[in-house]
Amino acid sequence: MAKVVVTRKIPGNGVRMLRDAGFEVAVSPHDRVLERGELLNFIQGADGVLCMLTDKVDEEFINAVGPNLKIVANFAVGTDNFNLPALLSHNVQATNTPDVLTEAVAEHAFALIMAITRRIAEADKLARSGFPPAFGPEVLLGMELKGKTLGVLGLGRIGSRVAEIGKSMGMDVIYYDIKQNADFEAKVGAVFKSTPEDLLKEADVVSVHVPLLDSTRHLINTDRLKMMKPTAYLVNTSRGPVVDEVALVEALKNGTIKGAGLDVFENEPNHAPGLDELTNVVMTPHIASATIEARSAMGELAAKNIIAVLSGQPPLTPVKV
Ligand code: NAD
Repeated sequence: MAKVVVTRKIPGNGVRMLRDAGFEVAVSPHDRVLERGELLNFIQGADGVLCMLTDKVDEEFINAVGPNLKIVANFAVGTDNFNLPALLSHNVQATNTPDVLTEAVAEHAFALIMAITRRIAEADKLARSGFPPAFGPEVLLGMELKGKTLGVLGLGRIGSRVAEIGKSMGMDVIYYDIKQNADFEAKVGAVFKSTPEDLLKEADVVSVHVPLLDSTRHLINTDRLKMMKPTAYLVNTSRGPVVDEVALVEALKNGTIKGAGLDVFENEPNHAPGLDELTNVVMTPHIASATIEARSAMGELAAKNIIAVLSGQPPLTPVKV
């Protein structure tokens, strides 16, 4: 009987689907990230592994599983935790969970955009403070989105949906991507900018949706933050290292930009020094895909990929190297 290891408890029917398919399924008994040693021990002898983005899948991981390994299914769309050439060289299929989390992440990006532009975290604190003003003409003034310019960095599945939501709220939408998308421009009325700099100079809100690659690491750095308007906001729901977090703290402190909304961080779960003390940033702990709908569908899609590959079929959502 083929063995499938699931490195953390997941919601939805994914585990049941794997058991119904006739596999022996071992699910981590801990509701936390497994320590490296625990992980390497737990995955031994598996034919398939359903893993988290917090699990580094490299040569050591592949060797720890052993020669039966045929598929590693990430419970995520991003695959920056995978060493793809290593998986390829061992003939192990890699899969991810695109599409099923797009709506959740796009809505979360907008939740952060609205929270930071309307100062919701500060207002919540004030409301609970015991002596909030009943009403104050100048208390916690924020920024309206209608008529403002939304800059989408990375117009893939999630970035496109964020652009659509922005449009539906009356924002002008500009985007930068390595690939121009004329069909999307015609359908949604988004305007292509040929460099990230052009986008950063113009946008009132910048929302980042690129994958973490060598080419996108610190895409937002000190120089590029300086190009943004002092009234502009930066929101990142992609991967932490896309933004130089130390540079961002500096920019938020000295008024280079107005504020930021962050779901992801450079060295999770840690934050850059000074970030936690700032009032012009709203933060969530990597929960952009955390809806019951998305997380259940992610588990089910990962399970379907494993069932397909261990039955000799092609996976539904392979990751291309
Ligand atoms: P996608 O592949 O559909 O879109 C990524 C887009 O970025 C593509 O259009 C690609 O052309 C573009 N791109 C690549 N390199 C670029 C560059 N240097 N400059 C500009 N654009 C570039 O992926 P997606 O499904 O939209 O997901 C995007 C990312 O969001 C994932 O890779 C993942 O890291 C992140 N994500 C985070 C969470 C979360 O919980 N916070 C959840 C899901 C996804």
